Amino acid sequence: MSKPEETKMEKVVSLCKRRGFIFQGSEIYGGLSGIYDYGPLGTDLRHNIKQYFWDNFIKERDDVYGMSAAILMPSRVWEASGHTELFTDPLVECKVCHERVRADQPEAIADHESKHKKEKVEWSKPTVFNLLVETKLGASETTAAKVNLRGEITQGVHVNFKNILDSMHPKIPFGIGQIGKAFRNEITPRDFLFRQREFEQMELQYYIKPEEAEGKRVFEYWKQFAFDWYLGLGFKKENLRLRQHASDERAHYAKDAWDIEYNTPFAGWKEAWGIHHRGDWDLRRHSEYSGVDMSYFDEEKKERFIPWDIECSGGVDRAVLFVLLEAYTEDEVDGEKRIYLKLLPRIAPIKVAVFPLLKNKPALVEKAREIYIMLKKEIDGVSFDDNGNIGKRYRRQDEIGTPYCVTVDFETIEKGAGVTIRDRDTGKQERVKIDELTKYLKVV
Ligand code: ATP
Repeated sequence: MSKPEETKMEKVVSLCKRRGFIFQGSEIYGGLSGIYDYGPLGTDLRHNIKQYFWDNFIKERDDVYGMSAAILMPSRVWEASGHTELFTDPLVECKVCHERVRADQPEAIADHESKHKKEKVEWSKPTVFNLLVETKLGASETTAAKVNLRGEITQGVHVNFKNILDSMHPKIPFGIGQIGKAFRNEITPRDFLFRQREFEQMELQYYIKPEEAEGKRVFEYWKQFAFDWYLGLGFKKENLRLRQHASDERAHYAKDAWDIEYNTPFAGWKEAWGIHHRGDWDLRRHSEYSGVDMSYFDEEKKERFIPWDIECSGGVDRAVLFVLLEAYTEDEVDGEKRIYLKLLPRIAPIKVAVFPLLKNKPALVEKAREIYIMLKKEIDGVSFDDNGNIGKRYRRQDEIGTPYCVTVDFETIEKGAGVTIRDRDTGKQERVKIDELTKYLKVV
């Protein structure tokens, strides 16, 4: 019997391991479900995506501040935010093997039932399961304080709202953005980076005057901004869409909610990013629970109010996964199958690889090293490779998504004819003078 063809997801997972992007967390000890470690290239890819977010949502704007809150927060924060009561998923338990599965995930139920083809699976009645991860802080067993690893990074911003007002004196409307880890005790982690128990989020909380018209205008603005930003990661337009949540789908805090969805090859349209109208929910609740006034005073109008919050919330790891799935391409070059990642130069871990045509010709190696050092000073993400023959090196760079390969050959050193630059997607080569190389690579 022939082996079933690998799915695109399986191919991406194996490329990630083979080429040092992403590994199962603590793999040599059997791993932990829903936990992943990033290798050298995955770390760079993830970093580039985060940098692109940080530049566009925070650094390039005059109305947004960046911050970075702690992961550990007292449980009282989560009582105030509503997560202790409402951050739950429905859980059912298999009566045959006692495995627990999320009741509202038909894929998880179907997967489980296919493992027990011979018996008829019976399920327990659904119960609610809270996703917050809990731990204790302090040396004494009896007095240790109960704390939670944050279930979303959002609350780290809201609890600092007054600190930002008092230290930065912002004028409304203004935003606070951050990137950081969040933890959820997901009942059924699955689909590689899609549903993890430890993951990273990139978010913006944008505070506005509590007015319906202003709320609608600002919500529309960020919805479009986030969608355009996501497209800028290199997606085809037809693979992304915006979808409004139905009223019974919205989180407890949301007045309106839209998702940016990606048409995944493993399960169709899936959430990549959320835009939420959180109203005054978080600041009002933190005022009530902490006893600290979280209102804003408008000096010009002499008005005091609790602002509304329009939130943009994206998963970093989900973006990494979707970018990889979108970029994964197979074609044929010179009669041989080739795998390549069609990553945009902006996010590719390596932007340029420099090779000497032959490893055993010192003049070629020396010149290639010189060019490598020159490019490294100007471009972030340059590598040097003289392993194996040139064809193998091209294949290796294609597989990790390097957009350009620069080769030093005999014409470079004998005729001063510049170097060749090979384009990853077309395989075409062009000759470029050495003193025009940096400019060429920065422009393309
Ligand atoms: P889902 O419905 O898929 O569980 P959610 O609506 O609970 O997601 P939010 O609370 O809105 O998600 O979180 C914002 C973003 O964080 C999501 O759009 C997603 O990209 C990311 N995210 C949420 N949960 C996970 C997870 N378990 N693993 C990886 N990324 C996640």
